[in-house]
Amino acid sequence: MEKIKMTTPLVEMDGDEMTRILWKMIKDELILPFVDLKAEYYDLGLEYRDQTEDKVTVEAAEATKKYGVAVKCATITPNVQRMSEYNLHQMWKSPNGTIRAMLDGTVFRAPITIPSIHPCVKNWKKPITIARHAYGDVYKSVEIRANEAGTAKLVFDGKDGQHEEVVIHEFDGPGVLQGMHNTDKSIRSFANSCFQYAISTKQDIWFSTKDTISKKYDGRFKAIFEEEYEKYKSDFERLGIEYFYTLIDDAVARVIRSAGGFIWACKNYDGDVMSDMVSTAFGSLAMMTSVLVSPEGKYEYEAAHGTVTRHYYKHLKGEETSTNPMATIFAWSGAFRKRGELDGLPELVNYANQLEDACFDTLNDGICTKDLVNLMEGVEPKAVNSEQFLKAIRERLEKRMAK
Ligand code: NAP
Ligand code: MG
Repeated sequence: MEKIKMTTPLVEMDGDEMTRILWKMIKDELILPFVDLKAEYYDLGLEYRDQTEDKVTVEAAEATKKYGVAVKCATITPNVQRMSEYNLHQMWKSPNGTIRAMLDGTVFRAPITIPSIHPCVKNWKKPITIARHAYGDVYKSVEIRANEAGTAKLVFDGKDGQHEEVVIHEFDGPGVLQGMHNTDKSIRSFANSCFQYAISTKQDIWFSTKDTISKKYDGRFKAIFEEEYEKYKSDFERLGIEYFYTLIDDAVARVIRSAGGFIWACKNYDGDVMSDMVSTAFGSLAMMTSVLVSPEGKYEYEAAHGTVTRHYYKHLKGEETSTNPMATIFAWSGAFRKRGELDGLPELVNYANQLEDACFDTLNDGICTKDLVNLMEGVEPKAVNSEQFLKAIRERLEKRMAK
C-alpha cells in the first residue's frame, strides 16, 4: 500500500511522561505505516524546554502561526516539586499558556462519544463543545479586604481625559471588594475564534452571559459578539447553522434539556465551571479532546488531560499500564483532517476519518483501556494494556485502509 502524501508540514510538539510514551507508540503503530508524515518537530519535553530556556515553546508557537496546524502532546507545567525532580534552571511557564497567549486563541473542548458510554444526562446524544474565554474577569482581578467602615470606589483615568468615578459601596463595617476587567480586543478575538470554529465544525454556537444584571460589562461581550457575527452571517446561513445568544441561567437549563451537538461559548469563569460539569457528565477525562483556535484560523490539537504521571511512574518501574490514548489519537486525526482540508488532500481527510472509525470499531468490540471498563454498557468490556489497545486499533485500521 502506498503511503498518503502530505504537502504542508504539521507542527508536531512532543511532550512528557506517559503521554510521551504513547506519542511514539501512536506514531509507530497508527501513523507512520499509513502516512508519509511531513512534520516540523519541536521537543516540548521538560528537559529540552529547560535546555533551550523555553525558546523551543516559542518557536513551536511561531511555527503554528506560519503553517496553521499543530498537534501537541501533553506537557508538564513545572511546580516546586518538578524543579528538583528535573533539576530545572527556572520554573518555566505552562507551554499551553505561552502558546495560547502567542496565538491569542480560544480553547474548545469536546468529548469523544461512543454508543456504549452513556452520558449522565440521558437526552445528550451528541457531543457538547465548550469554548472558554481564557482572559481576564475574576482570573485577573484585584481584591481588597476592608477591615473597617469606609467608601469603596471604582475609578478610571483615561489617557485622553475620560474620568469616571462611581461609588461601589458605602461600608458601615468590614467587608470585601474586587476589581476586574476585560478588553475589547480579547473579547473580539474570542468571538472570532468561536465563529471560525463553528463554521469549521458546522455546528451551532451558543453564547451566554448575564447582561441583564451586568449591563455594561457583560453587555459589552454581547455587543461585540453581535458585531463580529455580521462578518460570518452569510457563511452561517449557507451552512444552515445558527448563532444563538441567551442568558447564562437560561443556557444552563437549555443545555441540560438539549440533545447536544453544538458549541457553548462561555465567559472565563462560566467556562471553567461548566467544562468540568460537561466533561464529567460525558464520562472520562481520557476521552476529552481540546483544540486551540486563533482568531486568524490557526489550529493546535491536543488531548485535554495531562501527562498521566501516576501511570508513568508505574511504567518506569516496569509495570504495564492501561493508559487511554484516545484523546491523543484524536488530536492527530483532528490535525490531519484540518491539514487535508486546507491543502485539498481528500486522502488525508479520509485517513483521519478511518483512524477515528478504527478507534470506534475497537471500543464497540468491547476492547478498551481500564479507565473505561466501569463506564461501558451493552458490551462485554475487555480491558487491555496500552500496547494491546493500539495493536487492536491498528488491525482494524489496516482492514479499513485496504478497502
Ligand atoms: P492527568 O495527567 O490528566 O491525570 C490525572 C488522572 O486522570 C490520572 O492519574 C488518571 O487517573 C486519569 N487519566 C488522565 N488521563 C488519562 C488517560 N489518558 N488514560 C487513563 N487515565 C487517565 O493530570 P495530573 O496528574 O493532574 O497532571 C500530570 C501532569 O500533567 C502535571 O505535570 C501537569 O502539569 C500536566 N498537565 C498538562 C496538561 C497539558 O499539557 N495540556 C493538562 C493538564 C495537566 P488514575 O491515576 O486514577 O488512573
Ligand atoms: Mg475548572
